[in-house]
Amino acid sequence: MDPIHVRNAIGTTYVDAACGLRIDDVGPTDGTVVATIPRSGAEDVEQAVAAAQAAQPAWAALSLHERADALDRLADTMEAAADELAHLEALDTGKPWDVARHVDIDRCIRNFRFFAEFGRSQSPEVFRMDDATNHVLRKPIGIVGLISPWNLPLYLLTWKVAPALLMGNAIIAKPSELTPLTAHRFSELARESGLDGGLVNVLHGLGPEVGQALVEHPEVPAISFTGGTATGRIVAATAAPMFKKLSLELGGKNATVLLDDADLDAVVPGVVRSGFLNSGQICLCGSRVLVPTSMMDDFLPRFVDAVQRFPIGPVISEAHRAKVEGYLRLAVEEGGTVLTGGERGEGPGFHLSPAVVAGLPPTSRCATEEIFGPVVTVHGYSTEEEALAVANGTEYGLAGSVWTADAERGRRFAERMDTGMVWVNTWLHRDLRVPFGGVKQSGVGREGGMWSLGFFSEAVNICVADE
Ligand code: NAD
Repeated sequence: MDPIHVRNAIGTTYVDAACGLRIDDVGPTDGTVVATIPRSGAEDVEQAVAAAQAAQPAWAALSLHERADALDRLADTMEAAADELAHLEALDTGKPWDVARHVDIDRCIRNFRFFAEFGRSQSPEVFRMDDATNHVLRKPIGIVGLISPWNLPLYLLTWKVAPALLMGNAIIAKPSELTPLTAHRFSELARESGLDGGLVNVLHGLGPEVGQALVEHPEVPAISFTGGTATGRIVAATAAPMFKKLSLELGGKNATVLLDDADLDAVVPGVVRSGFLNSGQICLCGSRVLVPTSMMDDFLPRFVDAVQRFPIGPVISEAHRAKVEGYLRLAVEEGGTVLTGGERGEGPGFHLSPAVVAGLPPTSRCATEEIFGPVVTVHGYSTEEEALAVANGTEYGLAGSVWTADAERGRRFAERMDTGMVWVNTWLHRDLRVPFGGVKQSGVGREGGMWSLGFFSEAVNICVADE
């Protein structure tokens, strides 16, 4: 198959980068070049900003209900193309087609349906005083920059696009250079659904080039970024002096805590899934499992057995596999034992079998740094206080899970964890109305429900004195 020739979606046109350069997009399943993308830069951002500025006022003039209806039409158009979107997502990420279809793409469509419905359900915000009435308006920001990573490419992008459009903004999206295909197809579907081309602009290329130019552009007053903590720091350093609105969804090192009443038969499948779904490449994956020392001999063989039966998938790239393998070597240097996994397997792709490491100090680099691959470290603890100290003992604070026979006890433990999200006896159970985001170095701000509507708008108060 010839590589797909991806172009930037700017206004109603599809164009190559102004500089004419292109980048290869390599598929992780077999290491072949599946597409080439424009290597965009500041000039391309300039064109996208002009297209967005032309389209945004008419969109902002529509009512919230009219914009919600447009989101539903976009969801319909995506639904009709869902199998094709899943094919492109699988090609780019290496995940199985049915996972791409029934997890990623179904959830992308749901993002639009959810925000359409959520928008319609909003009531006017009015605050009465004795002698006046306050009316809160949520005005569009204008043009928003949306920067997304490669692990759940279209899902994480549409999680930003839907509320951004709903609130009356035009968007300029910068998908990861490793997974550009669904964002490209999405730009076509948005136009097919009737949205003005200038509302949904998609620029491809490298983060430090086109991503940086987007963050630097003075006419893009808000940036919603999902990616690594180190990149988030650069984005923040650029945007903060310009007083841009900034949402940062960053890395994590999430703890999975088994309390001493946990029924191992019941919890092990959930613990394995939370560690290794998508080859451990979900920011919410539980990559540190904390187990009461008294239960360790019972837990480890069951866990290792279940991990060995978990499907092997590729990680995103050759470079990322080398990084994960480097951490496995470091784990041994740090005193750990690799109980299973870390093998490449047959074939040309970037496969890596799920790995379990035991015996590492909880303060070791492997147990505190984000690896973002199929590696889970297991640690024993004696008291709940010790488990809590280990769970809270990293610079991250994104998510976590607690597994117990007593849900109330689990909730009490969860409340003491320094993370933005905690699941008790479940994982990745998502209600789109609730706040999503991390504390400490895992991010700034929240997405989801009201939090997304708040980020993608400027709340303005108008106080009218009584006659
Ligand atoms: P990354 O930080 O390398 O890249 C993310 C995006 O930022 C890409 O589109 C990239 O091109 C762009 N970028 C890079 N440098 C930039 C710059 N200077 N200016 C603007 N944009 C720039 O992250 P990644 O490797 O694509 O994704 C993996 C990371 O994302 C992990 O750390 C993971 O935990 C995190 N993540 C977080 C969440 C969350 O919701 N908190 C969700 C998914 C992934």
